Amino acid sequence: MPALSRRADSLGTENAFVVLAEVNALARAGRDIVSFCIGQPDFPTPAHVQDAAVAAIRAGKHGYTPSAGIDELRAAAARSMSQLRGLDISPDEVVIGAGAKPFIAYAIASVTDYGVGDEVIYPVPGFPIYESQIVAQGAVPVPLPLRERHRFAFDPEELAARITPRTKLLILNSPHNPTCGLLMQADYEAIAEVLRRQPQVWDYADEIYSRLVYDGQFVSIAALPGMRERTIICDGASKTYAMTGWRIGFAANAALAPVFTRWITNTESCAAQVSQWAALAALQGPQDAAEAMRSRFLARRDLIVRLLNEVPGFSCATPGGAFYAWPNVTEACALIGAKDSEELRRRLLHEAGVAVLADIHFGPRIEGEGQHIRFSYAASEAQIERGVARIADFIRANTRPPRQ
Ligand code: PMP
Repeated sequence: MPALSRRADSLGTENAFVVLAEVNALARAGRDIVSFCIGQPDFPTPAHVQDAAVAAIRAGKHGYTPSAGIDELRAAAARSMSQLRGLDISPDEVVIGAGAKPFIAYAIASVTDYGVGDEVIYPVPGFPIYESQIVAQGAVPVPLPLRERHRFAFDPEELAARITPRTKLLILNSPHNPTCGLLMQADYEAIAEVLRRQPQVWDYADEIYSRLVYDGQFVSIAALPGMRERTIICDGASKTYAMTGWRIGFAANAALAPVFTRWITNTESCAAQVSQWAALAALQGPQDAAEAMRSRFLARRDLIVRLLNEVPGFSCATPGGAFYAWPNVTEACALIGAKDSEELRRRLLHEAGVAVLADIHFGPRIEGEGQHIRFSYAASEAQIERGVARIADFIRANTRPPRQ
């Protein structure tokens, strides 16, 4: 067989999909599994958005659109992104993509060159696609550790220490997947101060969870003095409007918008037209369905955090946004004699019938940070109660007697 490229060989994946396949196989074999794996809202897309899609189909909106997206949606996305961030983003700066995810690759490919040592700094733990795309695009991955003692933000000095003349891009993600940490105004001021001394560095603000903030105000680094030009803001319809399968994301940056548009012309041509009209209805129509989902997530957050903190050996910080919980399970691993979070995850799946993800699915371990697992609480209150009760029973039943 002819050989594959180094790029193909190096391409990583999102392990959530691998674990999901394992969970589905167990479910098909008749096992009753409570799953907290999936990073998507469990609500249906709001009815008026569904109606807009049906109307678009009936109105013959079946063809390609411009690669940057239909003008109406670019304008609506520009308005929505501007309003939340206190900015004045023009529709020309905005490009519509097939989800927020493709912009990660487009951004890295647009500001780094292949194989010449260009560096990209990215959060660890973090969304696994960052590292996988950095490597696939031939850049050098430079992990930036997020620490529990910094509310899962990072120390600006650790950032400063990682920047070199070869650093081309800094990836930021707030609210953060998987820790749900938030970067606050003071964090951004410190980051901006570091970046102002480094004119060669772009930053990618992955703000896909921007509308799911529970404590305090969402802040974007783009709103800080001097940061707008170099910031690629990325947001989308997936998480706010329960539209993950519709595949609509938006990116905003004046210089890169024409480049992203060319990437899209070279890859998917455009985001699905029907989905674009649906997303327009989501952005322009009533926001009460999105607001109701946010309130449900907030109630579930409070429920799951309370329950997780009652599980022996679990300690769970209160997540500031998104829909994940990231308990520290170092002590629980010790109680049952599990070597690490991955062994705990496997035992929870096979012995307790509860599916979660382990920290190693989100990047290399960070020295001194202990063991964590991720729960997505995009699950009903009843599932949360049942699943966490199973875990508590499992830990109690398997706790080893202390060594004499
Ligand atoms: N960024 C982060 C941090 C995410 O968690 C996700 C979805 N899991 C995405 C981007 C991708 O979003 P989309 O479905 O719009 O492509």
